[in-house]
Amino acid sequence: MVVVMSPDATDEDVAHVVARVEGVGGEAFVSKGVVRTIIGLVGDIDSFHHLNLRTLQGVADVHRISDPYKLVSRQHHHERSTVWVGRPGHQVPIGPDTFTFMAGPCAVETREQTHESAVMARSAGATILRGGAFKPRTSPYAFQGLGVAGLEILAEVGEATGLPVVTEVVDARDVAVVAEHADMLQVGTRNAANFGLLQAVGDAGKPVLLKRGMTATTEEWLMAAEYIAQRGNLDVVLCERGIRTFEPATRNTLDISAVPVVQATSHLPVIVDPSHASGRKDLVVPLSRAAIAVGADGIIVDVHPDPETALCDGPQALLGTELRELAAAVRRLPPVVGRTDSAQAVRTS
Ligand code: PEP
Ligand code: MN
Repeated sequence: MVVVMSPDATDEDVAHVVARVEGVGGEAFVSKGVVRTIIGLVGDIDSFHHLNLRTLQGVADVHRISDPYKLVSRQHHHERSTVWVGRPGHQVPIGPDTFTFMAGPCAVETREQTHESAVMARSAGATILRGGAFKPRTSPYAFQGLGVAGLEILAEVGEATGLPVVTEVVDARDVAVVAEHADMLQVGTRNAANFGLLQAVGDAGKPVLLKRGMTATTEEWLMAAEYIAQRGNLDVVLCERGIRTFEPATRNTLDISAVPVVQATSHLPVIVDPSHASGRKDLVVPLSRAAIAVGADGIIVDVHPDPETALCDGPQALLGTELRELAAAVRRLPPVVGRTDSAQAVRTS
């Protein structure tokens, strides 16, 4: 941490800062410039926070040098992590050596629609099935999902097709029932700063897929992940799903640079959701190619057997030609950037 004194700070002001820092067991290194004095602090950063240094007389600014998140940071955990999703005997990796394709319907609507979507997803090369049972809808009048009945369908279809399942949990009170049915818990963009929910999924003992808040900086996103990690759960996969910008051509703006930015600062895997980022099926294949090229550890994509009748996000769901194109991209491109298909790396022990 570095304390920058204002140009009119007195020697007494500097001495007071030093005394406060030393009072909590820290060391203070004073560097006097012609105009300003700066003080470098070494020691326990949390104890420095409690000093409220910005409130002290003569202090102009305080900067931190180390990451504000610890458990998810690469500063203390240099190797990038792999998160395994599924049950003993069939676990799919998401990490730096593989490319993991997840697909499924935006929402679980019926058993048939979910099953058909899962078969489409698997045929296209997907190794994890997605599907929402509790849907976070902007409008309270929109389809809210089937709830527990949807979880049961999803679990049954996952079992039947041999695909581990990921599904969203929108309320801390539902974490237990969702964890009972799903292999991975999703926290959506609208709940990415719901700290009680983040702690509850951290306690659930299942891997978590954490979407980026639509207005969250990469640092805020990693702080959200830190809430989960703090509960002892480091099986967190980050998902870039587009952020709010002034551009109306797409539903959100896919922040493709966030992938390498976050991979450089955090050891957690990072995947991309081109469906929710763009809201347009014609953009899903190009954005997926971009995700693979930029080094994403996987993608998560909406598919639907009949997008025209979809109860949620039909315009972004893939079928037919686009899905075949996506399957070809997912088969061909990851090896070009040195990654194996996650299907070939499934852990069966
Ligand atoms: C979803 O994946 O179903 C979803 C609602 O995504 P997001 O939270 O990114 O909007
Ligand atoms: Mn959706």
